[in-house]
Amino acid sequence: MISMYTDAHVHILDTIEELDSQNIENPIFKTFDKEIFFCASANEAGRFEVQEKLCRENTGNFILSFGVHPQCPIENEIPYLEKLINSKKIAAIGECGFDLFDEHYKSTLEEQKKVWKVQLELALKSGLPIVVHCRKGLHLIFDDVKTIKKINAVIFHGWAGSVNEARSLLKKGVNAYFCIGKGLLRGQKTQIETAANLEENRILTETDAPYMRLKEEKFSLPTDIKKVFSELAEIRAESAGFLNYDEQNYKNYTEDLKVSIFENFKKAYSIDFKRNVNVKGN
Ligand SMILES: [Zn+2]
Repeated sequence: MISMYTDAHVHILDTIEELDSQNIENPIFKTFDKEIFFCASANEAGRFEVQEKLCRENTGNFILSFGVHPQCPIENEIPYLEKLINSKKIAAIGECGFDLFDEHYKSTLEEQKKVWKVQLELALKSGLPIVVHCRKGLHLIFDDVKTIKKINAVIFHGWAGSVNEARSLLKKGVNAYFCIGKGLLRGQKTQIETAANLEENRILTETDAPYMRLKEEKFSLPTDIKKVFSELAEIRAESAGFLNYDEQNYKNYTEDLKVSIFENFKKAYSIDFKRNVNVKGN
């Protein structure tokens, strides 16, 4: 099997709609890339189904997640989440977590806590990993460390914590993975620090397309994962003292890193390629 780029968190349907609304030609062609294996996320029943169909029609290299997003913490979608778990249609629960970024989101904290608890219970019961969305709420994640360390894997999308906070979760027994995304290209300090220093077996890459964009961009694309990955490779090579690289050496280095990150992705999402029905032709 060839090594692939991995996008641990992306919104395929939202990306296609964004391209459509900007009158960009061939939105489907621009959204799917055969070199990328991804986890597409949704938080609404109808949208989940449209996204699933689009993915099926255009690639074999995907898995799906569904969760009640902390920015919209309503319980209406919980029965649908349970249905997806029981029919084995999703590889992860999420996005779930906390968003305390502004006053509006802060005002829904009690609702956020409620849907978070329900989703933790479902993760424990089903054995599925969770994809965590967390802005300014890391203390609340730490409060629940006793529960989340029993969850199979905890994938932090949009990781904005320090490398010490990442290691602290690991030390407390949480099987955590941390996504490096476009924050790295934006020069976000904690992303650079995590990219440079965190143990290789805990790193994932993501785009969160179309949302996590650079200042000069209107939106981001799933193919931006290639830029994220090459920046990550460069930062890690430099921090490992891998400076006087000749071209072939550096190529081998990045290829190894790509393979490792794909391995992390498979572990985090418990993908068994021999059994996974989503995967064909690899
Ligand atoms: Zn997202």
